[in-house]
Amino acid sequence: MKPVRRDGGFRWDEVPILAYKEEADAFRAVTRQVLFGPEEGLSWELRYFEIQPGGWSTLERHRHPHVVVVLRGSGRVLVGAEIHDVRPFDLVRVPPSTWHQFQAGGAEPLGFLCLVDAERDRPERPTPEDLEAIRRDPAVAGFVRA
Ligand code: MN
Repeated sequence: MKPVRRDGGFRWDEVPILAYKEEADAFRAVTRQVLFGPEEGLSWELRYFEIQPGGWSTLERHRHPHVVVVLRGSGRVLVGAEIHDVRPFDLVRVPPSTWHQFQAGGAEPLGFLCLVDAERDRPERPTPEDLEAIRRDPAVAGFVRA
């Protein structure tokens, strides 16, 4: 099979740029490209996400884990109770049922690969009670967008 060529930048031939999610109120400036997906008979999906400067992904948790490889830009990530800086080629593990959120920093978009199970549970967003608990740590309270 012919390789799918990178089409300059962080695009690949014939891979459409998709909206990150349907509900548009819980995130800002995020796009999604499915590089390998279930239509090829795989039990996992490899996606490339890009968050524009000033943007963030949904604050959420779910039973399926994420494994992430940062490819471009810089930013910060909340995983559970911890906030860490990330930069290209960092590896980020999001364990099952752990609150997480990615935020872009700097002038370049934050781009990362994210591997997930093809069959996975739907993300859960925090209830007001969850948010109160999440925000109990002042550092986390200053970080999260929800
Ligand atoms: Mn997630």
